[in-house]
Amino acid sequence: MRGRSVERILGVVEGRRPGRTVIAIGGMHGNEPAGLDAVQTVLRELSRRNVDLAGKLVGVAGNLQAIAADRRYLERDLNRGWTPQTCERVAKPRPGETPEDAEQRGLLEVFGPLEAESPQPLVFVDLHSTSGPAAPFSIIPDVTRNRELALRLPIPTVLGLEEILEGVMFGYLVDRGHMGVAIEGGQHEDPRTAALLEAVIWLTLVEVGNLDARHVPGGVQAQRERLRSRAEGLPPGVRILQRHGTSPGDGFQMEPGFDNFSPVRAGQRLATDHDGPIHASEDGLVMLPRYQGQGSDGFFLAKAITRRWLMASALARKGTPARLLAAWPGLHWDASNPNRLRYDGTEPPAPMMRTLRLLGYHGVRARPPGLEFFRRRP
Ligand SMILES: [Zn+2]
Repeated sequence: MRGRSVERILGVVEGRRPGRTVIAIGGMHGNEPAGLDAVQTVLRELSRRNVDLAGKLVGVAGNLQAIAADRRYLERDLNRGWTPQTCERVAKPRPGETPEDAEQRGLLEVFGPLEAESPQPLVFVDLHSTSGPAAPFSIIPDVTRNRELALRLPIPTVLGLEEILEGVMFGYLVDRGHMGVAIEGGQHEDPRTAALLEAVIWLTLVEVGNLDARHVPGGVQAQRERLRSRAEGLPPGVRILQRHGTSPGDGFQMEPGFDNFSPVRAGQRLATDHDGPIHASEDGLVMLPRYQGQGSDGFFLAKAITRRWLMASALARKGTPARLLAAWPGLHWDASNPNRLRYDGTEPPAPMMRTLRLLGYHGVRARPPGLEFFRRRP
């Protein structure tokens, strides 16, 4: 048993000047200790060197019970179930609640007071690692304030995942007006993983103006190089086009040899289940192929994004009020929630899909007789 016992608050370093509140979270998944190590190292270094910090850094541990058991989670993934309704439900202990309900309550009890006291959006850095060897990347709900953080880190950014997955913690926090990045830092045991996650915390503190670059151990360039060297040959980012969901007992089996960012061609066989082979519906990149472990995500298909796409998208967001989209035949804008659009058909034309994605509407779900597109609150 490699589990460990940690407190919810790993540490707090208060700056002497006003600034942003940065919350660094390790161990949202209990078997991912590299994030905890990274947070503890940064807290220790800041205290030891007594640097002139602005704002504050709060180190938080995620799933305490799963960390103690060295398991991803006990009964449910703590990174899911973050809807306003669930957050309200878990706010008070109930008989028969899951261990993760209590963990979610513990996190909300930390976030709430910080949210109340901070005049600016909170900045979250959520640190993860993976079971297999993997290139590092960041995942953000696709709103402009998150892009500003994520794109400054020299590792690929994944857009659209937080919109497709229901109830992820970052989606909830961003909808409340906060910002941040989630990081997949590499394999659990690889010593480079904790070093990379640590670099992400340092660079974020500099980026939000809490820390002067000259106080970063080893220098900002060296910390950036820790990231850049691990992401060689990868695109600046990808946007998720589709998710292949699985259900228990459907016999889902990924074809061997896929990794994050593996290029695939339309028609290529990616996996098999009881209904037969599963092929790529278009050219793209595979993300998060599932070879082991729990969960209902088989794999995701993504497209590389270019700097040009990012710029076009940033410009479009500045200049296009969402209600203009309702000029598109069949597309309806909801005045009560501009981050949701209804579409009458089930096969939206490609130019419409491209435009919607530029504007951050990565999420799509069936809403018979048509579809519903949604994005995070900009
Ligand atoms: Zn994780």
